[in-house]
Amino acid sequence: MIMKRTLISALALVACFIGIQAQTQVIAHRGFWKTEGSAQNSITALEKAAEAEVYGSEFDVLMTSDGTIVVNHDHAIEGMVIAETPYKKLKKLKIKNGEKLPTLKSYLKKGKKLDIQLILEAKPLPTKEMEDQAIATIVKMVKKMGLQKQVEYIAFSLNICEQLAKLTPESEIAYLNGNLSPAELKKKGINGIDYNQKVLEKHPEWVEEAHRLGMKVNVWTVNKEDMMRKFIDMKVDYITTDYPLETQKLL
Ligand code: MG
Repeated sequence: MIMKRTLISALALVACFIGIQAQTQVIAHRGFWKTEGSAQNSITALEKAAEAEVYGSEFDVLMTSDGTIVVNHDHAIEGMVIAETPYKKLKKLKIKNGEKLPTLKSYLKKGKKLDIQLILEAKPLPTKEMEDQAIATIVKMVKKMGLQKQVEYIAFSLNICEQLAKLTPESEIAYLNGNLSPAELKKKGINGIDYNQKVLEKHPEWVEEAHRLGMKVNVWTVNKEDMMRKFIDMKVDYITTDYPLETQKLL
């Protein structure tokens, strides 16, 4: 009798745990930028995402020719290729909402004061050496600022994911490129998939496979309500969207 009761409570605990895991959460793509005074990848977009009380704020980072990590999506800004330009030539540039081009340091400093996960997308760089240098710089900064738990990593470059798995194996690291199964990534020490919605529609079995392996599943960039509902039903862990408020309402 006692054993039976113990078994039942153990099962309830497992069910409860699965229940918690199954709750989809929202990540604001490039921050919450479709709102007054905001812009993609701005510090304001990070603050607005935190105000919206979503799980995370996604942002893109690149490295200048002299090793400064800046927050920007495109490889070039006002005709200057970031990887070929020293930071001093970029530091006065303004982004769309009038803010200065944020550095990773300024972004993390603000993020540290907010209750939100910082989803750092390390963009591919021209050479493996540059990617390795960028990742070493980023991981060192994150550790120095005590943000290992608050920063999660995503990247299209397999090399970047592998460098992260080597330098910060305890972190959340998800691969974006959509061409590898969860099991293949797990073998490389990469513990998440963050795939385009079309990839997960084609491979719905990867959601369960990832979960079975203890990996997280994120999907991008989901902006239509029917697709949001579909991925909530598929029990993905995170939906990355340009419409964080609308997605939140469905949960
Ligand atoms: Mg991105």
